[in-house]
This record gives sequence, structure tokens and C-alpha cells, in this order.
Amino acid sequence: MRLLILGGTSEASALAAAVAGREDVAPILSLVGRTENPKPAPIPTRTGGFGGVEGLRSYLSSNAIGAVVDATHPFAEQISRNAARACAVSRVPLLVFTRPPWRREPGDDWIEVDGIEAAVDALGAGMRTVFLTHGRLQLAAFARAPQHRYLVRAIDRPAAIDALPGARLLLARGPFALADEEQLMREEGVELLVTKNSGGAATYAKIEAARRLGVRVVVVRRPTAPDGETATTLSDAIAWIGAHRPAP
Ligand code: NAP
Repeated sequence: MRLLILGGTSEASALAAAVAGREDVAPILSLVGRTENPKPAPIPTRTGGFGGVEGLRSYLSSNAIGAVVDATHPFAEQISRNAARACAVSRVPLLVFTRPPWRREPGDDWIEVDGIEAAVDALGAGMRTVFLTHGRLQLAAFARAPQHRYLVRAIDRPAAIDALPGARLLLARGPFALADEEQLMREEGVELLVTKNSGGAATYAKIEAARRLGVRVVVVRRPTAPDGETATTLSDAIAWIGAHRPAP
């Protein structure tokens, strides 16, 4: 069975590693290609957009794709919507493989907001040291709150970093350890942390460090995912693939 994995996440990488070498599945990992040095994948990879719903529908048909696993980031709304529509029209089974969101724990000081603009508003009028960890997209939104001192962490240099004069840029890729996150936030005097509710273990340490240090966290809620079958563990995703293989 030809299996298309929509990727760009650690879930997609884990799934790619799990199906690599299987004789009953011919997987293809699809990446948008924005990360400058992506980790090499153990399965064939294609890069770039499909060209909307119609482009994806045509890709599914011309490549005889038998099933799709949407393992994109929970905030990658457009590709997930496109996958839901294209798979429905093409009658190709679709699984959304995603990590559960983080939940507020006792001791957490969270402000939950819908979208980055609301996150900017939540920082308040006074000057604060703000740790931005929501990724390089939508960084420019913080330019309208120039009173803050920004510490920005991203995998690659964000083009919009110049919109935040005086921002300190840290280039790093998770996973991050709790002790390192705590030390960084203490040394930098972080007063507010901004994060998307991405979920998963790789970047959770900053939430725990904020709890320990009494740092307020502005948490951007997830967009609503399209309806459909969902797995939150690798073993459930593998079982779903097994159940959708054509009979020999
Ligand atoms: P998006 O807004 O949902 O997608 C924008 C367009 O990029 C899509 O319409 C599609 O173009 C193309 N695209 C996205 N993911 C693709 C994939 N895996 N393979 C082929 N084309 C893809 O997505 P985004 O928020 O910009 O995120 C882009 C990628 O980065 C995703 O793959 C996601 O998993 C990863 N990522 C995103 C975040 C985040 O916070 N958003 C964080 C970490 C990783 P066409 O319409 O031309 O097909």
C-alpha cells in the first residue's frame, strides 16, 4: 500500500522510522520544505506544497496513494483542512496522528488565548522580558508591543526578527531539558513565556520550568481540527495503517 505521511513534526518522523523497511507499505513523507536543514528521513521524501485541495487530490490519484496519515503540526490548519477535503473526495482513508494538548497543572499560571494577536494583547502595557517560543511564523505581530524585551527561540533565523529591534535570538531545536530551560529563564529574567499549545514531550520542559519559577505563560489554544479518525500514539497509528492495508 502506498502511504502518504504529511509531516514536519516529530510524530511524522517517528512514524516514518516505524514503517521504514516494511514490505507491505510503501511510504512517502511530505514536507513543506521550510526548515533549512531537516533531519534526513529513512523513507522517500517529497518536498513542497501540492497546490491546494485540487493539487493534493491529483497527487493522491496519480501516485495511487492507498491511505494518508496527516501527522502535521496541530497549528498547521490549512494542510489539515486540505487533506480532509482531498481524501474525502478521493475516498482515500485519512488518519490524523497528533499529540494531545498540554493541560494546565496545579501551580501553572496560564492565560489561554485564541491566536497570536490575542497573545500580544495578553503581554500587557508595562515593559516585561518575554520569551517567545511559538516559532518563527507570526513573529512580526509582536512589533506592535515594542516596550518589551524579547527573547526569541526558533530553529532557523526568522525573517521577521528585524521587526523586533533589540530581540535576542536563540537558534535551537528541541528536545529541551528541564534544568536547561529553568537556567535559561532564570538567567534571562523571563517574566512571561509565550507558546502555542503544541503538546508533546519535546518542548514541555519550558512549561514545567515556568511553573517552578512562577513565570506566567500565555498559551495559544489550538485551532479546531477537521472531524475524522485520530490517533495520539505511534502504536495506534501503526495499527490503523495495518487495518487499512488492502487484503493480499
Ligand atoms: P499550513 O498553514 O497548514 O500550510 C500552508 C501550506 O503549506 C499548505 O496549504 C500546503 O500547500 C503546504 N504544506 C503544509 N504542510 C505540508 C506538508 N507536510 N507537505 C506538503 N505541503 C505542505 O502549515 P504551516 O503552519 O505553514 O506549517 C508548515 C509545515 O510546518 C507543516 O508541515 C507543519 O507540520 C510544520 N510545522 C508547523 C508548525 C506550526 O506551528 N504551524 C510548527 C512545527 C512544524 P499547498 O496548499 O500548496 O498544498
